[in-house]
Amino acid sequence: MATVAEDFDPATVVPRGGHYIDGAWHNGRGAIAVRRPSDGQVYGEIPDAGEELVDLAVRSAETAIAKGDWARRAPRERARVLRRWADLMDADIATLAKLEAVGSTRTITSAVNWDVPFSADGFRFFSEFADKHGGDVAPTRSDHLGLVIAEPIGVIAAIAPWNFPLNMVAYKCAAALAAGNAVVLKPSELTPYSALRLAELAVQAGMPAGIFNVVSGFGHTTGDAIVRHPGIGKVTFTGSTRTGAAVMASCAMNGLKPVTLELGGKCPQLVFDDVDDLDSVAECIASGVFGNAGQVCTAGTRLLVQRGIADRLVERIAACARRLKAGPTWRADTDFPPIISTAQAERVGAIVDRALAAGASAVVGGKRMEVCGAGAYFEPTVLVDVDGGMEAVRGEIFGPVLTVQRFDDEQEAFALANDSSYGLAAGVHTSDLGRALRALRQLQVGSVWVNRYGRSADYILPTGGYKQSGIGKDLGRQSYESCLRYKAALIAFG
Ligand code: NAD
Repeated sequence: MATVAEDFDPATVVPRGGHYIDGAWHNGRGAIAVRRPSDGQVYGEIPDAGEELVDLAVRSAETAIAKGDWARRAPRERARVLRRWADLMDADIATLAKLEAVGSTRTITSAVNWDVPFSADGFRFFSEFADKHGGDVAPTRSDHLGLVIAEPIGVIAAIAPWNFPLNMVAYKCAAALAAGNAVVLKPSELTPYSALRLAELAVQAGMPAGIFNVVSGFGHTTGDAIVRHPGIGKVTFTGSTRTGAAVMASCAMNGLKPVTLELGGKCPQLVFDDVDDLDSVAECIASGVFGNAGQVCTAGTRLLVQRGIADRLVERIAACARRLKAGPTWRADTDFPPIISTAQAERVGAIVDRALAAGASAVVGGKRMEVCGAGAYFEPTVLVDVDGGMEAVRGEIFGPVLTVQRFDDEQEAFALANDSSYGLAAGVHTSDLGRALRALRQLQVGSVWVNRYGRSADYILPTGGYKQSGIGKDLGRQSYESCLRYKAALIAFG
């Protein structure tokens, strides 16, 4: 359904908080204030589920699975429910897009053109696996039949971050549900509302109650209780590397649960001096780092540029940064949103200040800006004169900050790119095909984009990091397979 993004009054968005468990709303105890990032206003509160309601959600999911009306339902019927759910998301775009824009850093324009339709499509994409990906007949002795039987895991826990709240529901849950599992999802406590709305729509689409449950709450209470719960068969987590490591340790100690971890990044964008058009490369680099104000795991925050073109490219990127229009997410012409919270903006500022004190200089940006009420905004920033040991170059900032390093030749470029504890993604700009192919081989990252930056709308390409950027994949056939477990059967009939 085509919807045009328009300015709207955020006061008209009154979200419904709580938990959505077993097809019904639950209020629960505790009150976590939820703020609009764009102006810092509190506009709702959510309870903190804690052990008791997590237990209720997991037991509801187990009961729903045991009833057999999902995993054992004809796969095409399961697929139909997921497609109906996607259609309801599209039909609900006006509500969903506003919920997303008010409550997160996603602008209304991005929410209408990307977050809602792309999320809906994720459910369609994975629905198509439901009746097409099964087990295998294994080549064994002629008097035996060998089978590899793919089975759903049971109840999968999904724990999501705040930076793309709606997309994360599709990333973390669509494959799991299509494969016949039940899900207990905990969205970030900073951005809970769009996931709760999707839970209501799931039941309207015909999904049995208890198959998709959303519990609200903090990570250290509710998130931790979910991971530890004995009824959870697998945990799929997206968030910071530090929390991911804690989740993995807890999974090991509480039932040896398998995990998928989509974690942080510090992604390089490499530019060689054989590129055709420096203006379009500059635009690509700028949108790769400043999109969503840098709050993207795959933000291309390290520019590695061949020395001869460095000054000209940096000048052009700075010009792109100056053109960005900062504003609240409910304005349709905003293309540079706020930082999610004051605490996060202060953290970004402190890292930039330390880099400046250590000898870096800001070609553009470098500090907080006042844009709308108590919203936390940070200028798009380009830092030069950095060295490879600086925190600003090595650590994930999760803000709109690009560092610039120069190289002389290809080997130095690849070495700089790989000099990171992260390995999520990299961009390469070159008109030399051989060089692009060598980059594909040599870069130690989970995704390489050549002469573009960022994921496409294709769900078929898996996403996930090397090194400390994670374990396993979201999207693609690989993520569907990771929501199944495989049983070997050998039948003698000689
Ligand atoms: P975070 O790690 O602070 O929190 C992520 C989620 O984990 C939240 O829902 C939080 O409540 C929960 N959590 C916190 N402590 C927990 C615990 N002990 N047990 C269980 N759950 C717990 O991350 P964030 O600040 O919300 O998101 C930003 C991070 O997410 C960045 O590092 C970013 O790179 C990463 N991210 C990665 C990808 C990817 O695909 N690799 C995508 C988006 C974001």
